[in-house]
Amino acid sequence: MSDDIIVLQDLSKIYGNGVEVRALDGVSLKIKAGEFVAIVGPSGSGKSTLLNMIGLLDTPSLGQIYLKGIDVSRASPEERARLRNQELGFVFQYHHLIPEFSALENVMMPLLIAKKDKSQARERAIELLEAVGLADRKDSLPSQLSGGQNQRVAVARALANGPSIVIGDELTGNLDTKTSDLIYNLLRDLNRKINQTFILVTHDMTLAEKTDRILRIVDGKMVCEMRRKDGGFVTVDNCEAELDGALHVKPLLHVK
Ligand code: ADP
Ligand code: MG
Repeated sequence: MSDDIIVLQDLSKIYGNGVEVRALDGVSLKIKAGEFVAIVGPSGSGKSTLLNMIGLLDTPSLGQIYLKGIDVSRASPEERARLRNQELGFVFQYHHLIPEFSALENVMMPLLIAKKDKSQARERAIELLEAVGLADRKDSLPSQLSGGQNQRVAVARALANGPSIVIGDELTGNLDTKTSDLIYNLLRDLNRKINQTFILVTHDMTLAEKTDRILRIVDGKMVCEMRRKDGGFVTVDNCEAELDGALHVKPLLHVK
């Protein structure tokens, strides 16, 4: 079996009747288990649409999505909900923690939804809070934690069921630079330690540079791809023309 965890084939999403918006326009992409990927591009370019497809939050107009080799592009709403709980973890710009629940209870939620028994769920949630450096705040409510701490809880919650992929849409968009850096360093660590696959949308190139693979989309099309190599990034696709404009990674770049 191939170790591609997600494969997109000619994926398009067309919105609207009358005036047609091609939010995604024929995107093909393969991501392997353990990859740490950033999706970058201008506002309105289709980043969230793409991530929502990978996260099975939305369905494509055309094309296929394979998750671990299985075509899930047109799975039923029930099957997609099951896969979101078991195979996917989500971290959004706002943490979306339940305000009445403690950090521990928030992290336990996806485990309880997956029908784990309460003591097992509790044990696992404590382990995860330790992994994100917040074991000592397990009884705190979201209102008693800082923005960065709440995002750490959200990361722990995303990891609860051992998902194949964790996706994040501007997950540090609401945090200051220093806190954003710490969160990305945490994800980097988790990627190395437990081989967790991350696919992150960001408009911040300095954060994207912390990943191993940068995909740039413009007008719903993948226009440029770079991969980490020898302490820098090499372009995989022919994207020299793109490098003058929006990318800021020049100090790291070795263009082929
Ligand atoms: P990004 O995340 O890169 O800012 P999006 O994926 O949110 O971009 O949007 C891509 C394009 O699709 C934009 O032109 C946006 O206006 C359009 N779009 C997104 N969602 C919808 C929707 N539900 N209905 C109609 N158009 C949409
Ligand atoms: Mg977006």
